Amino acid sequence: MPPPTRFKIVHRVSGGGEEYATVHQTGCKTESGEVRWVDVHEAFVALSDGVPGCTYCRPEVELGLDVG
Ligand SMILES: [Zn+2]
Repeated sequence: MPPPTRFKIVHRVSGGGEEYATVHQTGCKTESGEVRWVDVHEAFVALSDGVPGCTYCRPEVELGLDVG
């Protein structure tokens, strides 16, 4: 049975030491960093909470959150 995980949150530390996160679809490889695999619900909550979605794989579109 395949895992239900379809999204991931990548945590990175910027050059200034500031921590930030972005939401990605599973197959996206544009960001490297500490990865936390999440299910659809967690990805939805993260995006709703203001965690930015990746501009390449556009997880918010997959989740129907795209407002632009
Ligand atoms: Zn991405």
